[in-house]
Amino acid sequence: MASPLADGRTKPGISPEAMKKKAAEKGAFNPAHLTLARRQRKSYTIRLWSVRHSRFLEWFYSHFANTFLALHPVWKAVGYNRAEKPVTFVERGVKGLLFDCRMCGQCVLSSTGMSCPMNCPKQLRNGPCGGVRANGNCEVEPDMPCVWVQAWNGSRRMNKRDAILDVQKPVDQSLRETSSWLRVTALAAAAREEANRS
Ligand code: SF4
Repeated sequence: MASPLADGRTKPGISPEAMKKKAAEKGAFNPAHLTLARRQRKSYTIRLWSVRHSRFLEWFYSHFANTFLALHPVWKAVGYNRAEKPVTFVERGVKGLLFDCRMCGQCVLSSTGMSCPMNCPKQLRNGPCGGVRANGNCEVEPDMPCVWVQAWNGSRRMNKRDAILDVQKPVDQSLRETSSWLRVTALAAAAREEANRS
């Protein structure tokens, strides 16, 4: 049977329900680029594990960041720009698995209890909105634990527990899909060189 299109025309072979579903899927907010069915199946298990183990991950990241900084001469020799693509690939894979990272390019996990704020449907970087449900879930995504409730819980386990109180700048969209690891390393290396000069 032919189905009606929005402009009154019909498209053969597609039911109105299927078309509606497709349109909703296209326009709906899609945390971590997962469909609703996959999100429900996934149950945020790994993301929540990361929050529960925020102290270990904080410790691990500080060693990892030091190693990356120690490799500064290598990045410099290769060229930070040339290293960007492969490092971004690895960063996306690792952080995508652990945190459902959205590759904003300016990571604040160390200040947010290892809960990625970019998974907030409103993409709030400085705390929750007023719509957290009584069960601690998001008002927009009822099946998803509020990332800011999780951020607070995770921050309580960390050494730098009060870093969550720091005010975060708005997201610089030009840094999307770039490597936070390399950017932090380049900035730390520049600061170190500056300190050595003075
Ligand atoms: S804050 Fe940005 S870089 Fe860090 S996990 Fe979230 S999206 Fe990824």
